[in-house]
Amino acid sequence: MTEVKLQFGLGKDGKEFSVTQKSYLKNVVEILELALNTEDFRKEVTKYSFKTKIGIRRYYFRMNKGYSRKEIFELIMAGRDIFEIEEDTIDLLISPYKKEKKYHAYTKPSIKEIYLNTTYLDYCVDHSNRIKALSRVANTLLHEYIHNLGFGHKTNKPSDYNDTTVPYAVGTIIKMIIRKKNTK
Ligand SMILES: [Zn+2]
Repeated sequence: MTEVKLQFGLGKDGKEFSVTQKSYLKNVVEILELALNTEDFRKEVTKYSFKTKIGIRRYYFRMNKGYSRKEIFELIMAGRDIFEIEEDTIDLLISPYKKEKKYHAYTKPSIKEIYLNTTYLDYCVDHSNRIKALSRVANTLLHEYIHNLGFGHKTNKPSDYNDTTVPYAVGTIIKMIIRKKNTK
C-alpha cells in the first residue's frame, strides 16, 4: 500500500496555511490515499489510451518519457520522485501562495515544494459540493506531484494535447475515482 504524507511549508512571504486550510488539506490527502490504492486506479492508469480526432489509432500518455503505462503506475505508487525520501510513500510538501482563483498550483523541476494558491483553496473549502471540491484539490496535488516524478506538459493550460499528458490525465483519473466512490 502506498502512503501519502503531507508536510506544510511556508510561503515566500513567511506565511503558513490557516488551521482550516490545513485540516482541509489533510482531508484531501486521506481521500487521495484511499483512491490511489484502489484497483480502479491501477486499471485506469495501466489501461489508459486515447484517440485523436482523426484516425483510429489509439495512443498512450503523451510526453511519457519512454515509460510504459505500467511503469508510470509503478513510479507513482512507489513515490519515486526526484527528491525521493521514502519508498512507497508519496511525500507532499505544500506551501501557500496567493493569486487570482484561476491559478491552482505550481512547482518547478528543481523544487520539491508544491505551491498551492490559497484563493483557489479557500474557494474549494467553501464550496457547497464537498466531494466535487475535494476531488478537484486531490487532482491538483497529484498533478503537481507527477511533475516531481519528472513528467511535464506543453503549456500551462488544459488543452486537447495536455489532457493526455501524464499530469493532466492521471489527475483527471483520480478526480473521477473520488467522485465515483463518494457519490454512490
Ligand atoms: Zn502542470
